Amino acid sequence: MHSVVCIKQVPDSAQIRVHPVTNTIMRQGVPAIINPYDLFALEEALRLKDRFGGQVTVLTMGPPQAEAALRKALSFGATDAVLLTDKAFAGADTLATSCALAAALRRLDEREPLDVVFTGKQTIDGDTAQVGPGIAKRLDLQLLTYVSRIVEFDPKGRSITVERRAEGGVQVLKTALPCLVTMLEGTNEIRFGTLPDLFRAARVPVEQWDRAAAGIVDVTKIGLKGSPTVVSKVFTPTPRTDRAQMVEVTDGNLAAGAAELIARMVSRLPALEEALAKRA
Ligand SMILES: Cc1cc2nc3c(=O)[nH]c(=O)nc-3n(C[C@H](O)[C@H](O)[C@H](O)COP(=O)(O)OP(=O)(O)OC[C@H]3O[C@@H](n4cnc5c(N)ncnc54)[C@H](O)[C@@H]3O)c2cc1C
Repeated sequence: MHSVVCIKQVPDSAQIRVHPVTNTIMRQGVPAIINPYDLFALEEALRLKDRFGGQVTVLTMGPPQAEAALRKALSFGATDAVLLTDKAFAGADTLATSCALAAALRRLDEREPLDVVFTGKQTIDGDTAQVGPGIAKRLDLQLLTYVSRIVEFDPKGRSITVERRAEGGVQVLKTALPCLVTMLEGTNEIRFGTLPDLFRAARVPVEQWDRAAAGIVDVTKIGLKGSPTVVSKVFTPTPRTDRAQMVEVTDGNLAAGAAELIARMVSRLPALEEALAKRA
């Protein structure tokens, strides 16, 4: 049983501030954390290891500092870690990121065949939710997105059944292994690392793979060269300028005044009427 969890080191968005004058993001001194969705993915992979044994490899593409994220994941119980790091990867958009990660996953599969590749639903910095599906496409894996729970897992029968959050409900999907799962938030909680795992995480070597080690020959598919996306503008949304509205009640009929206010709100926010009706 071999799961690989793709994790990304991201700035802790709770601590990011916007400069009051220039409106630019102030990143100085902002600590780096593991993308929170990736921790839900890691916990799910560790639960599979608890039940069926085997290994959980954590994989990240990033600068050398991203090793800290891998060591943290090892302290939670991941068994192996690979850091994909090379100047050739710099400037990667989601397409080039998926290509590089897919190449590394191919190498890992050659060592020990993959059963499940996990990613988070999305990151809290890039926010695109494209990398997981991009990897699945490149590796021709069954793709299960927005998974809230693994319902059944049968490594011998080579199948997986999951609950997937969909618009207006929950879907239960069954598919064949190997597959790629993108994990939702709030479905589990990452465990505390055991003392042996904490010691192991500090000592165990983290493999560092450059482009060649990941088996990437065509450099036009990675980094800036492999990135067709152009970020044309970054801006903070304009603050809303809505003012509070007043209804004057002259005849003491407060109910009519309240009804008038609610009618105005509902005309601007149609979904509110439905939500209020449901709660009534
Ligand atoms: C033109 C352009 C240039 C860019 N240049 C850079 C750059 O030089 N340096 C830089 O850091 N970013 C750069 N970025 C941002 C980078 O493309 C994205 O951060 C990256 O592709 C992941 O996209 P995302 O954060 O939206 O991930 P999502 O698609 O939202 O992530 C989904 C999941 O995929 C996995 N995942 C995502 N990224 C990684 C990763 N790196 N390693 C392992 N797993 C991962 C995680 O499990 C994550 O939860 C650039 C973006 C563009 C458009």
